[in-house]
Amino acid sequence: RTADLTGLPTGVPEALRDEGIEELYPPQAEAVEAGLTDGESLVAAVPTASGKTLVAELAMLSSVARGGKALYIVPLRALASEKKAEFERWEEYGIDVGVSTGNYESDGEWLSSRDIIVATSEKVDSLVRNNAAWMDQLTCVVADEVHLVDDRHRGPTLEVTLAKLRRLNPNLQVVALSATVGNAGVVADWLDARLVKSDWRPIDLKMGVHYGNAVSFADGSQREVPVGRGERQTPALVADALEGDDDGDQGSSLVFVNSRRNAESAARRMADVTERYITGDERSDLAELAAEIRDVSDTETSEDLAAAVAKGAAFHHAGLAAEHRTLVEDAFRDRLIKCICATPTLAAGVNTPSRRVVVRDWQRYDGDYGGMKPLDVLEVHQMMGRAGRPGLDPYGEAVLLAKDADARDELFERYIWADAEDVRSKLAAEPALRMHLLATVASGFAHTREGLLEFLDQTLYATQTDDPERLGQVTDRVLDYLEVNGFVEFEGETIRATPVGHTVSRLYLDPMSAAEIIDGLEWAADHRAEKLRALAGETPEKPKGDRSDSDDEPGGFQRASEMVADDGGSGGGEDGDGGDGDADAFETDRTYPTPLGLYHLVCRTPDMYQLYLKSGDRETYTELCYEREPEFLGRVPSEYEDVAFEDWLSALKTAKLLEDWVGEVDEDRITERYGVGPGDIRGKVETAEWLLGAAERLASELDLDSVYAVREAKKRVEYGVREELLDLAGVRGVGRKRARRLFEAGVESRADLREAEKSRILAALRGRRKTAQNILEAAGRKNPSMDEVDEDDAPDDAVP
Ligand code: ADP
Repeated sequence: RTADLTGLPTGVPEALRDEGIEELYPPQAEAVEAGLTDGESLVAAVPTASGKTLVAELAMLSSVARGGKALYIVPLRALASEKKAEFERWEEYGIDVGVSTGNYESDGEWLSSRDIIVATSEKVDSLVRNNAAWMDQLTCVVADEVHLVDDRHRGPTLEVTLAKLRRLNPNLQVVALSATVGNAGVVADWLDARLVKSDWRPIDLKMGVHYGNAVSFADGSQREVPVGRGERQTPALVADALEGDDDGDQGSSLVFVNSRRNAESAARRMADVTERYITGDERSDLAELAAEIRDVSDTETSEDLAAAVAKGAAFHHAGLAAEHRTLVEDAFRDRLIKCICATPTLAAGVNTPSRRVVVRDWQRYDGDYGGMKPLDVLEVHQMMGRAGRPGLDPYGEAVLLAKDADARDELFERYIWADAEDVRSKLAAEPALRMHLLATVASGFAHTREGLLEFLDQTLYATQTDDPERLGQVTDRVLDYLEVNGFVEFEGETIRATPVGHTVSRLYLDPMSAAEIIDGLEWAADHRAEKLRALAGETPEKPKGDRSDSDDEPGGFQRASEMVADDGGSGGGEDGDGGDGDADAFETDRTYPTPLGLYHLVCRTPDMYQLYLKSGDRETYTELCYEREPEFLGRVPSEYEDVAFEDWLSALKTAKLLEDWVGEVDEDRITERYGVGPGDIRGKVETAEWLLGAAERLASELDLDSVYAVREAKKRVEYGVREELLDLAGVRGVGRKRARRLFEAGVESRADLREAEKSRILAALRGRRKTAQNILEAAGRKNPSMDEVDEDDAPDDAVP
């Protein structure tokens, strides 16, 4: 009974009771018996929705009650704020909760006053690198979804982070929450933790396969779900759930598909089904929700989503804006939306249980694999585990789809009878080691090859490998790479990070990204010097001092964009007849490298997830590549170097998206042109901002004069504007669209915001008084009130 729990902050057991949690679920009780609230380390491998969060909370709260500090590591940034909101209900019992996201290069000092801190593993890793002082005060760390150490891209960070935290504090309580994986025992061994493993679920889950006119369930029962001629299985299953069971209870459905496009088209089709089941009241609530969705942004995705929602269905994928995702999830939990068609991101963590789950696609395109690849058992189990809402449904139903009897049998074998795969460390992959070995040296965890291997010995990889030689070999290769690129140096046995190596580690860059950026910027410096020498040969050398003056002369330097237009894209006057102007252009820091050159540079690093080249793209971007060649930093691979050239073009496509963004192209046009969602634009923009910030730091550390060009290119990405709007867009509340309207109305700067007629400003902001007032406040205007202002008083030229 929760009332009998001891060691928790005063009031917590009662609060749990008030939430309706009177008894612990069996796996939770087992965890407490294993010492969860006494600081014992524990791996809890239990199914989705069986109360893992409470296990974590009991551990963290009791640790804090003993005067400690707890850290909760989430697998996705989107989950950090959700978890924080959940834990904040303990604030009335004196527990301070903080969340740490965003800016990597900081030590998050303010977090030292918090009792519970929520962060992603990347963030924790970077806090360790930046020597956050509170790290060694931690007494309890929770790793949510620890089976993700198996993830090729992100697993190694979680693995190394846990190893480091345990090394910093040998008495640390580690609570690892895991799906029911095959080898949870190995994970427990690695963490010196006890194991609680269970298949118990709070609500029954019936798993089955639909084929013909019925679902056959694993328990031997059948449910008739006829599919008419020319009809498809999924809509029939969604309609069947809405018809309700014998008690007439309507059930919602979650349909999992394998791509964003499929999620959107399936939602369109399911909307025609759900529409038949909504009541009059629901129809008007849904119309309101649709309007809210349209208000978030006026993109095509937003419009498509609103159209489906108006009829009671929705799609959900990583390309959605965060506001859209929340609106959809909440309305689904409120049973207003009857069906969500989702990519598997929804299965990973977000709490949206549903009466019925349909796993429509169990294969997915995998680039590394080169074709359609069956999903892991673990993934399918996690999707299926979303079925059944405790307290609402008698049981959950999870259904796979088969075309014939053979396929049905195969699906039973492959997914329903099968155990989830074992978790395997991915640490020995070179990109992972590159990054983590540099960090381990830079933050002083090891100073020699032996020390590094000893540290690596505390990882899951070491627990699992039967080839101890291999880690040594990869370590040597990686150390070589780091030395050649100037990130570490050897002095006898001792390995030290160089100043640049320290910076790279703190910036949280893959060393290979840093090497690419440094090469590109150094190439630009050489290129500029060469140009200047060539130009000097043709025109008399200019007196010293000119260089620093040129900034102040009106028109003394050309903007990169004009430069390209003026001389037909040569990026610097190849033909040299405008001798002086060209020399100026090259001498002035801001004109070279060009934004496109810099965007391309950061887009070709392994830290940027590049856009995919579709058919026809190869031609388009090859052409663009030749047109803009002088702007690229570094050698352009030849068309015969197939793979390298393709990569180069993918980076170019991504860079071009960024160029459109800073050229103020409408978001809607961008999503259309590149076949991406609005969430993807944000993703690319944020990554580019971070990488350009890193480039700026590296350029200044290496004393390269491209610093200014990089800074400007970064600022433009941050705001999504041309350079004349940079000042305005930097004012809080302005943004790219309003900045443009203000500018067109003659309000061109922060200073203008403080001085221009208020009616002019109000007219440019389309009469939005509150917005206008907030903006004026942010710009530092003395009397920002808009109360008496009439936009009709605006001068004629105020309305663009
Ligand atoms: P998981 O993290 O394992 O997927 P959650 O922790 O989100 O699952 O728990 C699912 C739901 O069960 C939550 O709404 C939670 O409040 C509820 N719950 C957890 N433990 C108990 C309990 N002992 N009694 C009643 N409800 C519980």
